[in-house]
Amino acid sequence: MHIPHRMQFLQHLAQTSPEPLLLEIESAQGHYLYGSSGKKYLDLISGISVSSFGHQHPHIIQAAEKQLHRHMHIMVYGELVQSAQTEFATALTSRLGALDTCYFTNSGSEAIEGAMKLAKRYTGKHGFVAQTQAYHGSTQGPLSLMSNEYFSDAYKPLLPDIVFIEQNSISDIENLPSETAAVVIELVQAEKGCYPSTVEFVHALRDWCTANRTLLIIDENQTGMGRTGTLFAFEQYEVMPDILVCGKALGGGMPLGAFLAPGHIMSVLSVQPVLGHITTFGGHPVSCATGLAALELYTHNYDVKHKEQLFRQRLVHPFIREVRGSGLLLAVELDSDSRCKNVIKKCLEYGLFTDWFLFAPQCLRIAPPLSITIDEIEQACGIILRVLNEEFI
Ligand code: PMP
Repeated sequence: MHIPHRMQFLQHLAQTSPEPLLLEIESAQGHYLYGSSGKKYLDLISGISVSSFGHQHPHIIQAAEKQLHRHMHIMVYGELVQSAQTEFATALTSRLGALDTCYFTNSGSEAIEGAMKLAKRYTGKHGFVAQTQAYHGSTQGPLSLMSNEYFSDAYKPLLPDIVFIEQNSISDIENLPSETAAVVIELVQAEKGCYPSTVEFVHALRDWCTANRTLLIIDENQTGMGRTGTLFAFEQYEVMPDILVCGKALGGGMPLGAFLAPGHIMSVLSVQPVLGHITTFGGHPVSCATGLAALELYTHNYDVKHKEQLFRQRLVHPFIREVRGSGLLLAVELDSDSRCKNVIKKCLEYGLFTDWFLFAPQCLRIAPPLSITIDEIEQACGIILRVLNEEFI
């Protein structure tokens, strides 16, 4: 007897929400996902800021295939010299100035974990400062940095001595405890609904960290790899983090995270105790090969800032309160959570795949492949406006 995939999904995959989308996807190509019924959906979210160059880009597929035929996993991170890792780390760090050393992980959460451990080890301090309404991952270190108690309360006790500050509130910085190992920030707070930080705020934090022997960790899981118009968002702020955290688009569609730091900071992970962070699959050779291919694809020619302007110009409607964010990381704030939910469902009917944000269920997520075309932007905005107009009826 053939059991429908939806039944298998509901019965045999762990469920994390009472109302999963349950859309069955057969394949994905270019900027489109294809459902099992053959229906195609324009991808406006790139698997949450992952597929920056669309699906099945030939350069990325070729890199994966080449590496698959050389080797897949052979040994835990940090022992064998594997050219897929060394070539990607070299290419990445060559764009990052003082951040010349890269620790590859499996995911963004693991990269945040590693960055937090590195900050504790390097400074000898243990407290952390994070921004309210920030998401840095779901394992217990990053979960400790989450101010939103709805999501964190059930898992307490978490890490002690975490202080929360409001994004862009310079007065919050003055009284931070000097026992802070690191301040962890995003430059565009994505899951809050794409709120960019001000340059003054980020510089004030940088100055405070420098004055207090505290490390500044910038989490570029969502903003990295070109999404806001430069390879990393920190370039637009003229500020250097002590540790940069990446994930999502880093692996070109394969699972990969990383934390990067100057060699003199990173070196503490190899002494007293040795093996300061251990990972079996972190820096998987196939993920590093596809990551390098994706980095090679990244150029400024994607015109991210121009595409941002186009979305902003087109998305004007009485139900739209604001379009916020930077580059192709945008939140379209609607007048209510329920409106947003309806709009997402109806967009699917019209062949547009979008989503909401963890702490902003009233906002539509716009994070398409950077290679989205002008015509496709017109098409996406046309569908959103059509759906919003139908809400009037
Ligand atoms: N940091 C940020 C800013 C994120 O958006 C995410 C994932 N949404 C993470 C960390 C965690 O990454 P992962 O899901 O790969 O563990």
